[in-house]
Amino acid sequence: MNKMTVRDLSFAGRRVLLRVDFNVPLDGPNVADDTRIRAAVPTIQFILEQKPRSLILMSHLGRPKGRRTPELSLAPVAPVLAKYLDLDVAFADDCVGIGVEAMIDALPRSGVILLENTRFHSGETKNDRDFARQLARHGEIFVNDAFGTAHRAHASNVGLSETMTAVAGLLLEKEIDYLSTTIEHPQCPFMAILGGAKVSGKIDVIEALLDKVEALLVGGGMANTFFAAQGRDMADSLVEFEALDIARGLLAKAGNKLLLPIDQRIADAFDNRATHRILDAAADLPSGWQSLDIGPATIGLYARELSGAKTIVWNGPMGVFEMPAFAAGTFGIAEILANQTANGATTIVGGGDSAAAVEQTGLADQISHISTGGGASLELLEGKTLPGLAALADR
Ligand code: AMP
Repeated sequence: MNKMTVRDLSFAGRRVLLRVDFNVPLDGPNVADDTRIRAAVPTIQFILEQKPRSLILMSHLGRPKGRRTPELSLAPVAPVLAKYLDLDVAFADDCVGIGVEAMIDALPRSGVILLENTRFHSGETKNDRDFARQLARHGEIFVNDAFGTAHRAHASNVGLSETMTAVAGLLLEKEIDYLSTTIEHPQCPFMAILGGAKVSGKIDVIEALLDKVEALLVGGGMANTFFAAQGRDMADSLVEFEALDIARGLLAKAGNKLLLPIDQRIADAFDNRATHRILDAAADLPSGWQSLDIGPATIGLYARELSGAKTIVWNGPMGVFEMPAFAAGTFGIAEILANQTANGATTIVGGGDSAAAVEQTGLADQISHISTGGGASLELLEGKTLPGLAALADR
């Protein structure tokens, strides 16, 4: 990597300001999924091992739109992090101001403090220079480890790096290694699996991947729009009629690289208790029915295709996996990826829903890399330059 990382600096005795991604789902006052907290631990430990003067953590959570919003406080994160670090983690109920500065000054040697949600201040998303300067006062060294916001130019990532030298944390380094370096120089055969609700949000990633992969396997609601573009009656399925021309264009461009499901699980309602059955992909859907998952023959076909792959990237669920009746396709792909990892392939799962699905299967530790950033991982796959990464100091 041509960007500076924590490995290039020494932290002993310094005040270290670390931007993490603690944008975790909350269930009332509790953290519902602590994946992102665990993902930040290696960088935090790496810095603490060098005995810094103090470690100041900042993050956003949700979209409070510049207002102090108690339901989006980062306070519930501090005890979870303290448990993983086996250390005290102080919590400041703001992220800037003299009260916070006094708390930071009063920290014991190598003390850790988590600051309140940066987005409680409108200067954060506006990338306001004054707000970035107030944050910068907290530290002498700035480490950015927040991959989930790397596609945004906000004060706590891009703004700060205009005031201080920004280096990547270990998580950011790993995300770049997999989602950028590996995908630019993959071991071949390189194949991709794309799913999720819509074609429209993924046109750029489809186009970018088509140039690189041997095969692009499609599932999820997105497949319905491709089928409708081919003239198949999809009845009540989710179809983006305004994207039919785009879908036709992509099919023509892709030729036989793009694979569509050969069977689907169709249901008579968008409901886990709906009546459902398997339908061959050559047949029109009966009126009132909708396709909610890929079928077993498709899982078999995709397993055979992927069995030869050396690099596999997956983004987007194969069906409405939130409902157990329509989760088999998505979980089946997770299993195929785990098997291929065991066979020596590099397997990469983009963040968001497909990452959550892999976590649910318990196979997460059998995948080479699961990204912590949904939007950011998609933009990297599209080959875009992410502002949060561009702002890191060059080596
Ligand atoms: P995306 O954010 O585009 O990756 O879409 C993820 C969402 O797509 C998930 O909430 C899935 O439930 C949904 N999804 C996947 N397959 C289908 C389908 N066949 N019909 C409707 N929604 C789907």
